[in-house]
Amino acid sequence: MQYISTRNNFNKVSASKAIKLGMVPAGGLFVPERIPRLALQEIENMGSLPYQQLAQEILSLYLGDYTFEEIGSCASRAYHDSVFNTPEIAPLRKINDCMYILELWHGPTAAFKDMALQIMPYLLSLAMEKNQTGKETVILVATSGDTGKAALEGFKDVEGLKIIVFYPKGGVSKIQELQMTSTGGQNTFVVSVEGNFDDCQNAVKNIFSDREFNLQLEEKGFELSSANSINWGRLAPQIVYYFWSYLQMLTRSEINIGDKVNICVPTGNFGNILAAFYAGLMGLPVKKLICASNENKVLADFINTGVYDRRRELKKTMSPSMDILVSSNLERFLFELADRKGNRINSWFEQLQKDGFFEINLDTLRKVKDIMTGDFATEEETLYTIKNVYHKYNYLIDTHTAVGINVYKKYMEATSEKSPTIIVSTANPYKFNTSVLKALKGKEALIDKDEFDVLEEIKNLTGIDIHPGLKDLDKKEVRHKWTCSTEKVKEKVKEILSL
Ligand SMILES: *Cc1c(COP(=O)(O)O)cnc(C)c1O
Repeated sequence: MQYISTRNNFNKVSASKAIKLGMVPAGGLFVPERIPRLALQEIENMGSLPYQQLAQEILSLYLGDYTFEEIGSCASRAYHDSVFNTPEIAPLRKINDCMYILELWHGPTAAFKDMALQIMPYLLSLAMEKNQTGKETVILVATSGDTGKAALEGFKDVEGLKIIVFYPKGGVSKIQELQMTSTGGQNTFVVSVEGNFDDCQNAVKNIFSDREFNLQLEEKGFELSSANSINWGRLAPQIVYYFWSYLQMLTRSEINIGDKVNICVPTGNFGNILAAFYAGLMGLPVKKLICASNENKVLADFINTGVYDRRRELKKTMSPSMDILVSSNLERFLFELADRKGNRINSWFEQLQKDGFFEINLDTLRKVKDIMTGDFATEEETLYTIKNVYHKYNYLIDTHTAVGINVYKKYMEATSEKSPTIIVSTANPYKFNTSVLKALKGKEALIDKDEFDVLEEIKNLTGIDIHPGLKDLDKKEVRHKWTCSTEKVKEKVKEILSL
């Protein structure tokens, strides 16, 4: 299995090379040259596998130049029950007749990015061995909060590699910030940027496409790689849990093999829902993908109108990991829908870069709507949903998951559709504790409390244990205090690498 560019501007490369490069140097994203297909019988046969072995099976279909044993070893180290706080790794909870919540936050940082970022460093390490250049790899990450810590945890003290994380100053929660700035390891660097997430992401993208700078780095013995959700090594592991959750329903006799399910995903950069789309292309019986946005509803507008328009203010919401105006992974989705015509993708995304918007043709829009529906939740609806779900089902959710559930409810009401639906829960409720307490008790409950008091308050109120990754952060030393403006991101990289 080889990898090609969504923009038809690069030669085919192996899986390990695609993972090592992160994105296509001339712009564009790596995609598999074909999507592997599984028959229903083959899917059913995987029903008894533990998570680690299921990951081994699915990933082996994609990672052509990794051996089956190598992938198995990566999966068993990554999805180990000393790393995740449950042997199920990704438990599926039935909430009512239609709603199944897929909990993807049992990893070390309490959010779903661990699902990919625990295994990706192992895949990248092997990729470095397989493509030896004798250079030190520098991982650059732009984060809206959750990726940063998950990547730092995955990569810290991995030899032959440095990781530099940029996050928007004031754009992440206090706990997210402390999770990052207290990270240990000799090879980790964390920088706050005066700007929003899109500014961070653009600054990092510009570094990747800056030829001159890359040559300079090469001369000094460095090469860049990315751990952002555009890296194939991030995306492929996310396909696994869609098969996992379907098989859970199957083994519990909630569905029969072949029954179609909906999948609802609170979406930001479009990585998680893209993985669900690939699972469907591979043969998983998916009825509808439900794309849930917060008030930054660029995607909802796109799915409904065919116009992708980022020319608007980015709002800060209580689901900050979805505060994004440019959803990079959409490019891979459109690549499939536009019959893999790289030239078309190139013109759309160049126009987005140049003019801030693009419009897809009607034929492609029809395909989008066949596969996907999109809507958004307001801030008020998000709060209400947290409270309502807690009182109705005695189940506590975070703000991102609440956006998902709210949009799912709207979809249900509009269509009277009753198929079983997997709703992806992307963060533990304690991770976004302030908003969760506000939802349960009103904003008066927050007066004179810092985030750590709030954790305790929620615990007293609900009796739910605080996630281990969020405990005692206030007692840890802040090790990273770098900060810079958006224009100075490249300078900061030079400074860190002593260029
Ligand atoms: C990253 C993140 C999302 C968005 O996922 P995408 O793959 O970027 O669409 C949603 N919720 C949480 C908690 C996240 O960390």
